[in-house]
Amino acid sequence: MRHFLLAVVFALSAIVAPLAASAQSTVESAVGDIDAFWAQQFANAGLAYTSPNLRAIDSTTDTSCGPIDPYMSPGAYCAADDTVYYSTAWAPDEPGSEILWWTVLSHEWGHHIQWQVDTGVTSVFASEQQADCFGGAYMRHAENVGLVSPEAVSMALSLTQSAGDVWFFLPADSPAHGNKAQRALAFMTGMNGGVTACGFPG
Ligand SMILES: [Zn+2]
Repeated sequence: MRHFLLAVVFALSAIVAPLAASAQSTVESAVGDIDAFWAQQFANAGLAYTSPNLRAIDSTTDTSCGPIDPYMSPGAYCAADDTVYYSTAWAPDEPGSEILWWTVLSHEWGHHIQWQVDTGVTSVFASEQQADCFGGAYMRHAENVGLVSPEAVSMALSLTQSAGDVWFFLPADSPAHGNKAQRALAFMTGMNGGVTACGFPG
């Protein structure tokens, strides 16, 4: 499944030309816009915003949340050290990988948002669905400001959907993120309604 997803990512990357050139790394560029988007959402709601830490990992790394294996997931958020981790073992931080990083990091940023402010989620499943919803809201924003193409937003939706929990992972892996339909619906709720439709106060 993981290798299939990676193959999909690179197949998609090959046909998504980035619309924004930057001297920053691909991840820094993606993160800069995601962070600015959220700073604006907080300002609109009259709330104070603090950016999370960002750290690349390429081998198993001890964090305040325990060890993180970079081969298990392209990204992770640890509330205890308020850090978004991203795996350069999963995919390179270089041009051509934009669509993966936009998709992954906008989701992980969503968990940072949940740590910053009460967004009304009370279960792991609800928090994962809301992070997908926040990802969809961000991607539609990125499209609206001309940072990504409508096709890129569709591909982010496809990537999110393809990472849905599947029956053959059970019971060893808990179905925390929701199935393909649930993940796609959550992402589309954010695309169509923005962050307040996901539960962000405002
Ligand atoms: Zn998540």
